[in-house]
Amino acid sequence: MVVQESLGADFRTMWDVYAATGSTIIQPGEMLTGLKEIVGASQVLMGDAVAAAPYCKDWTGQFAGTPIAVVRPESTAQVAAIVKLCHNHGTPMVPTGGRTGLCGGGVPTGNGDSVVVSLERMNAVRAVDVGARSITLEAGVVLQTAQEQAREHGLAFPLTFGAQGSAMIGGVLSTNAGGSNVVKYGTTRELCIGIEAVLPDGSIIDGLTGLRKDNTGYDLKDLLIGAEGTLGIITAAVFKLSPMPSVRTTGFLSLASIADAPTVLNALQDRTGGAVEAYEYMPAAAVEVICREFPKTRRPLGVPAETGLFFEVASSRPDDAKGGDDGETRLQGLVFEGLEALMEEGTVLDAMIAQSEQQRIDLWTMREAILEAITANGPAYHMDIALPLASVAEFVTTMDAAVADMGFVPLTVGHLGDGNLHYALSAAEGKNWTDLPLTRAKEQAFALLMRLNGSFSAEHGIGQSKLDVMRNLKQASQLDVMRKIKQALDPDDLMNPGKFIPKEKS
Ligand SMILES: Cc1cc2nc3c(=O)[nH]c(=O)nc-3n(C[C@H](O)[C@H](O)[C@H](O)COP(=O)(O)OP(=O)(O)OC[C@H]3O[C@@H](n4cnc5c(N)ncnc54)[C@H](O)[C@@H]3O)c2cc1C
Repeated sequence: MVVQESLGADFRTMWDVYAATGSTIIQPGEMLTGLKEIVGASQVLMGDAVAAAPYCKDWTGQFAGTPIAVVRPESTAQVAAIVKLCHNHGTPMVPTGGRTGLCGGGVPTGNGDSVVVSLERMNAVRAVDVGARSITLEAGVVLQTAQEQAREHGLAFPLTFGAQGSAMIGGVLSTNAGGSNVVKYGTTRELCIGIEAVLPDGSIIDGLTGLRKDNTGYDLKDLLIGAEGTLGIITAAVFKLSPMPSVRTTGFLSLASIADAPTVLNALQDRTGGAVEAYEYMPAAAVEVICREFPKTRRPLGVPAETGLFFEVASSRPDDAKGGDDGETRLQGLVFEGLEALMEEGTVLDAMIAQSEQQRIDLWTMREAILEAITANGPAYHMDIALPLASVAEFVTTMDAAVADMGFVPLTVGHLGDGNLHYALSAAEGKNWTDLPLTRAKEQAFALLMRLNGSFSAEHGIGQSKLDVMRNLKQASQLDVMRKIKQALDPDDLMNPGKFIPKEKS
């Protein structure tokens, strides 16, 4: 990556205006005038316009705050000029994308002293390089649009999760989002091969070369990915694309025990040459809450599966798509062979395989409905944890029993192929949520998690909601390094303050 000093005439003009301010503190009125000069008055929202627009609240509805203004740049040069202006003025900035983050990272805190920088207008697909199998996207491109763009070129942008219709590339990178296909393709970090960003002082780093190898110093890309907007504003990025699968087999399994989940996953991987794309834990309680809240949902199996597993295998190999006389594809045949063996040894009790694209879509729709179903079901406490695969069963069996004794119902789903569980606690029937011992349940869960070498935030990040857990459970030496990095890049703590890094214990 190189520090880019100039982005051409557009940038120089704005830079000349604001470089002149140096480090002089300018007045709020001047700053708002400055913002309007950079992006045009219609792209600076204030007062009622901010209140009417969806910038103050996140998806959970738990985090809200009012900024001084919302500013909507359309170019990297404009972002750099905004950041420089805010930096000179000492004004905190909150980068925001689709606000589907689940930890309160993309909305202002209650202070009313910040400027929200919304990247939504930076939504260009800058390049698709079919030969190099890469795509360059601006930060405001919606994830689903990225998938569609890749598909138009016969390739796959394999990141997928329930909020893909709203989440934007900048937010996806800043949370290092995961989702259902990580078991095959990795997290956002593994897909991204270059970043362009504006640092807290307004300087630009341009790392959009698309190089697959570049060992020339610290990897600034990896520092910005997952930083939740605390080290700079991501304006664009290059991603790897994958071959588009031409055949899929999707199904739902009932396992004898969650302890068998790694065996079943590995058996499917071995049979199909590592083609498992999704391997999702969906126990009976989770399926039932979805069916209750969304009555059109089709139950995948006649008898609810205590240990339910939704899976998909996918291949781009032409041979795997070939069908026999019975209409079964080779890939399906491999899955059937694997499942037969697993049923014989008793690890798989029952299986449903989608026989049409509609059945496949129904299974995916059910999987993606879980968060909305839990939200509609009533109050819940959500944990987003990761465990070594071999320890998932111990965590689930121990905690399920413990929280049931306390009056909770665990509504768990998870990207089980990655050891990632979304472990949510809700009130058992007849129990009043506010009477339940949530603090005790959390303490017990986090203590067990730490004993099993797990993580208290697998994919949703820290934001505002997990600052306490971060302070208490993150290794002190690692927190110390993070504070030093933050101090080096953002000494005035202007980039998304009050998020991600907890204040030191006094
Ligand atoms: C129904 C549902 C399902 C979900 N499923 C998953 C899942 O399976 N896996 C998963 O990982 N997440 C999941 N999420 C969480 C969420 O969708 C992701 O975290 C997503 O990546 C956030 O993108 P966003 O554009 O909405 O970011 P926002 O919520 O707007 O912002 C998130 C963070 O990124 C920062 N940020 C935003 N844009 C920029 C930028 N350009 N530069 C620097 N910082 C920036 C913000 O300041 C904030 O800290 C789900 C959410 C919902 C509502």
